Amino acid sequence: MVEEEYDLVIVGGGPAGFTAGIYAGRSGLNAVILEKQMAGGQVMISPSIENWPGEKDIPGQDLAMKMREHAEQYVHIKEFSEVTSVRKDGYFIIDTPEGAFKGKSILLATGAEHRHLGATGEEEFNGKGISYCATCDGFFFKGKDVAVIGGGSTALLYAIYLENIECNVKLIHRRDQFRGEKALQDKVKASGVQIILDSVVEEFKGEEVLGSLMVKNVRTDERTEIPVSGAFIAVGEVPQTQIALELGVELDNEGFIKVDRRMKTNIPGVYSAGDVTGGLKQIVTAAGEAASAATSAFEDLMEPYWL
Ligand code: NAP
Repeated sequence: MVEEEYDLVIVGGGPAGFTAGIYAGRSGLNAVILEKQMAGGQVMISPSIENWPGEKDIPGQDLAMKMREHAEQYVHIKEFSEVTSVRKDGYFIIDTPEGAFKGKSILLATGAEHRHLGATGEEEFNGKGISYCATCDGFFFKGKDVAVIGGGSTALLYAIYLENIECNVKLIHRRDQFRGEKALQDKVKASGVQIILDSVVEEFKGEEVLGSLMVKNVRTDERTEIPVSGAFIAVGEVPQTQIALELGVELDNEGFIKVDRRMKTNIPGVYSAGDVTGGLKQIVTAAGEAASAATSAFEDLMEPYWL
């Protein structure tokens, strides 16, 4: 297998990975970004971003593309390059189906993936009415009855997006207060979205495709069957830490990668940034963390503190 050698191998091609690439390249490091899918990360599926300084309102896909073009000036981006295993043998050896990459250091910007509810019928109707991405699949439900499940900023954004494409939207949340940004809550409340609080989805029902939800009010225990064509689940994210674990990187109590203020992990030469480290999980914090992580990698390669 061909081995390509780099100063820094960045795993994950979202905002953190792009920013790390820019900082690494500009400090003179020979770096590569390995992304298992198309580069862009979770931001690609956000209908609109209103809190990236300098852009009042920009579709997530457009922001991701701008970041990618910028990063490409400084770093190689290899898409559909899934890391299958990683080990340290002097260098970090990172295996992908296309070949092995040798890195003097490695930066984990692996992000997080959609959490599943675990309700009856969820897996059966996944892709047959159930989706985890309103921007990707919302259009198929234009003008139809849909539910959004969750109370964070993603659920609020999905509800607004689906309402804008003329869906009849019910937003179902397990508590009586939303976790998501106040500005988004205000938008939802001012829209035609029907809000159903203190309620959980117990079952997804249908024949070939999703037809209804069985919803329980957690205060009264009353159960209601709600007919829907689509259900968009937005109940948070699960950090992607498999590679970190292979390297012996420590995680925190919530399963996110533990880093210090310079974004160093417990393993020398391994850095991390973005959603996989937990915290605020914003694009702007991912970018900030990645700038620190890449700068730490640069400084440590100049003067390895572990030797
Ligand atoms: P999140 O903030 O973690 O919210 C997840 C939501 O799902 C919470 O309301 C939670 O309820 C609910 N939930 C979790 N497990 C559930 C279950 N088993 N059954 C029913 N409901 C469940 O996740 P997110 O909205 O995907 O956002 C992820 C991160 O990205 C956050 O840090 C968020 O701030 C950030 N983000 C920011 C923006 C923005 O700033 N505009 C946009 C999108 C995402 P509880 O509230 O009861 O726990």
